[in-house]
Amino acid sequence: MSETRPHWWPAFIGIGSNLGEPVQQVEQAIKALAGLEQSRLILCSSLYRSAPVGPQDQPDFINAVVAVLTRLAPQGLLTSLQAIENVQGRTRSGERWGPRTLDLDLLVYGQASVATAELTLPHPRIAERNFVLLPLSEIAPHLPIPGLPSVPQLVQQLVLSEPAIERLTR
Ligand code: AMP
Repeated sequence: MSETRPHWWPAFIGIGSNLGEPVQQVEQAIKALAGLEQSRLILCSSLYRSAPVGPQDQPDFINAVVAVLTRLAPQGLLTSLQAIENVQGRTRSGERWGPRTLDLDLLVYGQASVATAELTLPHPRIAERNFVLLPLSEIAPHLPIPGLPSVPQLVQQLVLSEPAIERLTR
């Protein structure tokens, strides 16, 4: 069993998929996250459709962000996220920005700042990506993120139209 903590910590998880029926992949991932050990799913954004960053010869992505309360430590939570990716057929081609059935990023864990070989917290690319910031600001518009300006400021700084993105109704 993973190391657990005596308290519940809020953690925010970014979800992305562009292969194998991406909407279903994301919905299945949300169900899996709802079943995480030592954790409770508490918030779930809308689904968003975004154009791929990098290689353009791949399908659009479906993205969402969820929040859990968890007693898993950050590294244990990351290991659980990778297990869900593997169950949903994630293979690691090594191609940066390449297509994937499921990508789960641990965006923020409480006020933790972590820099190990396996885990960087907060996730280093939160501020750069509209497909992370828009769903995140939908469920946590005033989330304090260590080392970053406020979420409204981040949203204001971002070029919201790139990549092209639309919110889907659920
Ligand atoms: P990716 O191919 O984008 O899914 O990157 C996965 C790799 O990033 C794994 O080797 C993780 O150990 C590492 N990683 C570092 N920080 C994080 C994070 N905050 N969330 C998810 N993966 C992370």
